[in-house]
Amino acid sequence: MKITKSLINKRLIYLFLTFVSWQISFAQAEISIEPPHWWTGMKNPELQLMVHAKEIGNTRALIDYPGVELRESIAVVNPDYIFLNLHIRPNAQPGTFEIRFMKEGKLRYKYSYVLEARKPGSAERQGFNSSDVVYLLMPDRFVNGDPANDDVAGMKEKANRKNSDGRHGGDLKGIADHLDYFTDLGVTTLWLNPVLENNMPAYSYHGYAITDFYRVDPRFGSNESYRQLIEDAQAKGLKIVKDMVFNHFGTEHKWMKSLPMPDWINQWPKFTRSNYRAGTIMDPYASEADKNRMLKGWFDTSMADLNQTNPYVANYLIQNSIWWIEYAGLNGIRMDTYPYSDQKFMSRWVKAVNDEYPGFSVLGEAWLNVVPQVAYWQDNHHNPDGFRSYLPYVFNFPLKYAITDAFNEDNGWSTGAAKLYETLSLDYLYSDPLKTVTFADNHDADRIFSRLGKDMDKFKMAMAFVFTVRGIPSIYYGTEILMTGWEHEGHGYIREDFPGGWKDDQVDVFERKGLSPEQLEAFGFLQQLMKWRAGKAVIHTGNTRHYVPEDGIYVFFRYNENESVMVVLNNNKTAKKLALDRFAEDTEGYTGGRDVLQRTQLNEFNMLELAPMSVRIIELTKP
Ligand code: CA
Repeated sequence: MKITKSLINKRLIYLFLTFVSWQISFAQAEISIEPPHWWTGMKNPELQLMVHAKEIGNTRALIDYPGVELRESIAVVNPDYIFLNLHIRPNAQPGTFEIRFMKEGKLRYKYSYVLEARKPGSAERQGFNSSDVVYLLMPDRFVNGDPANDDVAGMKEKANRKNSDGRHGGDLKGIADHLDYFTDLGVTTLWLNPVLENNMPAYSYHGYAITDFYRVDPRFGSNESYRQLIEDAQAKGLKIVKDMVFNHFGTEHKWMKSLPMPDWINQWPKFTRSNYRAGTIMDPYASEADKNRMLKGWFDTSMADLNQTNPYVANYLIQNSIWWIEYAGLNGIRMDTYPYSDQKFMSRWVKAVNDEYPGFSVLGEAWLNVVPQVAYWQDNHHNPDGFRSYLPYVFNFPLKYAITDAFNEDNGWSTGAAKLYETLSLDYLYSDPLKTVTFADNHDADRIFSRLGKDMDKFKMAMAFVFTVRGIPSIYYGTEILMTGWEHEGHGYIREDFPGGWKDDQVDVFERKGLSPEQLEAFGFLQQLMKWRAGKAVIHTGNTRHYVPEDGIYVFFRYNENESVMVVLNNNKTAKKLALDRFAEDTEGYTGGRDVLQRTQLNEFNMLELAPMSVRIIELTKP
C-alpha cells in the first residue's frame, strides 16, 4: 500500500486522539486513598494509607517529600488494594506531595496527597463532662433545612415522609439554623445520630449502615457543612459528639463487591445474626460458640460485621476516628454497639484517641442491663479477666431501667422508689460514676412520656432525677415537648419528625406555635432545670449521700464543702409530710433552704410538705 500524505495525516490524527484519550483516561483513572488527607504535627507519626485502584497491587509506590518516608508497601490478596505505611517526621511541612504508582518503569497512577497544618490547640480540645447536658437528635427527623437535598442523584433511597422507616429530609442545615434553640433550652452538647453516607436501598435514615466512612451523607449536607455546623455550634458554646460505628457497616459499601482481603469482615457459611448477648464477653461460664456469635455474628442482614482483629481494619478505623476529630473539630465520640467489636481492639482505639487528644471524651454504648456488666467497660475497673478498657464514659443503662420503672411501681423492698435507691447504691462498682451518662430514653427505647403513662407528675419526677443525680444527663429530642412513642410499634414511632422542622407543620416548637399548655409546661420545666444545673458545681462534681426510702419517699443530697442540695421524691399518690430529723448529717449547719422549682424560701427546716407524686429540689442555706 502506497503511503499517501492523507494517510499520514490520518495516522497523525489517530495518534493524537489516542494520546488525548489516554491522557483523559489517565487523569480520570479511579484511585482512592483513605484517609484522603492528613496533618503534620500529629503525636503519632505513623500513617497507613489504604489505596484502591484497578491492579494497584502490582505497582510500586514512590513518594518524594521532605519529612515523609514511605516505609513499607503492602500488597494484599486483592490486587486492587495496596497499603502504604508512611512515617511523618516532626520536620514535615504542610503541603502537597505526589504519590506515584509505577509499573515496569511507567507511571500507572498518581495521587496528590495533602498534609494540612493542624489548627492551633487542636490537641488540647475539650470533651464533655458532668457539667454538660447532652441532647440527642436524629438528623433525618429534626429539621429539613434544605428540601433541595432530600433526593440526591446516585443515592438509592428517596425521601418519603409517609413511610415511618423512610427518609424524611432532615439535614445538617436544619440543625445549624436552630442552634439558638439548644442554648435557649439549656443543653450544652449535641449528639447527632450518625451522619455518614448510608447509600442503602431502604431504611437508611438512621445512619448505622455506613457505606463511606469518609463522607457525610449528601442528603444531610457535605463534609464541609458538617465542619461548619460544628464551628458555628462551638462559637455558641455547644459541644458536638459524633456517633460512630466500628462494629458493622452497610452491605452496599464498595468493600462488599470485592473485599480487600477475605478476613476484612467476619464471614459465616450462611447468614448468622449476632445473639446480642453482650454479657457473654465477661461471663466466666460463657461458651466460645456463644461469644463467637456475639462478636462475629452480623448485626443485621444489611450490616456486615467488621473484623477488627485484622490489623489493617484496626488501623483503618483508628485513623478514621482521628481524621474526623481533627477535620471536623469534634468534642466527643459516642461509639455504637461497643461490646460487639473485638475488645482488645476497642481498648487500643480509645487509647490511641486519648493519646492524641487527652481532653477528648469517648462514650461507649455498652448496652447491658445490670451495673457490674456496664462497669466492666469503664476504664480502671478491676476486671478479673485482666481486661483494661481505657473507655472513660459509659451509658448508665441500669439506671435508665430504674427511672422508667420506679415511678410506675408500688413502693416495696426493691420496687418503686427503692429501685432508684438500690441501683444507685451499686455505684461502688463504677470506677467513676461521674462519667456515666444518665438518661430516660434514647433512639432505641420507648419515649419516656409514653413509659410514664403520659403522667406529667411522673415526668417531672423522672426529669428532676436525671438532672440532679451524679453523672452526665442526656435527653432525647422531643422529650422537652413530651413526644410519645413505643419501641415495639417500630423505631419510626420513637423517631418521629420534630414539630416545626418541616414547612407547613401545624405545630412549631421553635416558634412556640400550636403547643399544648402541658407541652409548654414541660419545656419550661426542663429549661428551668437545665439553666439552674448549669451553674451548680455541686451537681456537676459534688458527692452523693442518700437515705433508704421509707414510705415511698426517696431523699438524696448532692454536697461539697460549700453547699448542699436536697432532692426529695414522693413516689406516692397521696400527699405526705416528711420529718427532716433523719437527715441531720446532711442538714447540720444549714438553717433553711430555697426550693428551686417552686422558687420559694424555707425558713424553718424541720418538716416538708410533699404533694402526691412530686419532687422537690432544695438548695440548703446557711444562716
Ligand atoms: Ca433536606
